[in-house]
Amino acid sequence: MIELRNVSKVYPNGARGLDRIDLQIDDGEFVVIVGLSGAGKSTFLRSINRLHEISEGEIMINGNSITKARGNELYRIRRDIGMIFQNFNLVRRSSVMRNVLSGRVGYHSTLKMLLGLFSKQDKALAMDALKRVNIAEKAYIRADQLSGGQQQRVSIARALAQEAKVILADEPVASLDPITTKQVMDDLLRINQELHITMVVNLHSVDLAKAYASRIIGLNKGKVVFDGKAAEATDEV
Ligand code: ADP
Ligand code: ADP
Repeated sequence: MIELRNVSKVYPNGARGLDRIDLQIDDGEFVVIVGLSGAGKSTFLRSINRLHEISEGEIMINGNSITKARGNELYRIRRDIGMIFQNFNLVRRSSVMRNVLSGRVGYHSTLKMLLGLFSKQDKALAMDALKRVNIAEKAYIRADQLSGGQQQRVSIARALAQEAKVILADEPVASLDPITTKQVMDDLLRINQELHITMVVNLHSVDLAKAYASRIIGLNKGKVVFDGKAAEATDEV
């Protein structure tokens, strides 16, 4: 479970990213965050796994405060949280397999990681993850040889290999065409249903949100302006 307790984020330049957010996301939910550009969607996701510090409040992940966690504890909490970005964030010149294996680094010592030593089990997990997004046949191809949709599926596989319990996806389909968008959203939904991985996905399309979300959270100027079932959302959220 993810819990935000009175969370605000003010950037150093004074911009208010989040304004007193209080909410919980339960295990297994498929939450879509919608809102206009600048509404705070990205700030919301980046706050959850502490890619930046919040200004006020506290965020709990499965009962542990990620806001207060230090050192190894922070590392352990983050291991459960996979992240997917609009621009895929793959190591472009590395193979698909290497990219997916990088999801395993949190499970190993820094030395092993530097040497790129992965066990058979790591490789099996990585291959399973690639199969789950139907891209196993590309395992030994360089990441930058793939199409955008394929690269995004690799980044989903990386989160699966990480054995993430939550996936935070920041505009995962913003740079994809409509057909590829559907494939990637279908993959996220299937993973949510089959593996019970909690999804928190930022989208700017309300239509897409309604098609996939079990719950929609609408943000405007850092505040929650809608929080409810997808069917109840109007086009203005
Ligand atoms: P969204 O993802 O919905 O487009 P953001 O979370 O990126 O919205 O932005 C929310 C607010 O915070 C906006 O006013 C934006 O200008 C501001 N903001 C976002 N990132 C930064 C940053 N790194 N520095 C300063 N202000 C920022
Ligand atoms: P079953 O319902 O048959 O137990 P699951 O869907 O739970 O199957 O798992 C099928 C496969 O997916 C297994 O090989 C398992 O190791 C793998 N798997 C399960 N959960 C995850 C996860 N969070 N990330 C990556 N792989 C997983």
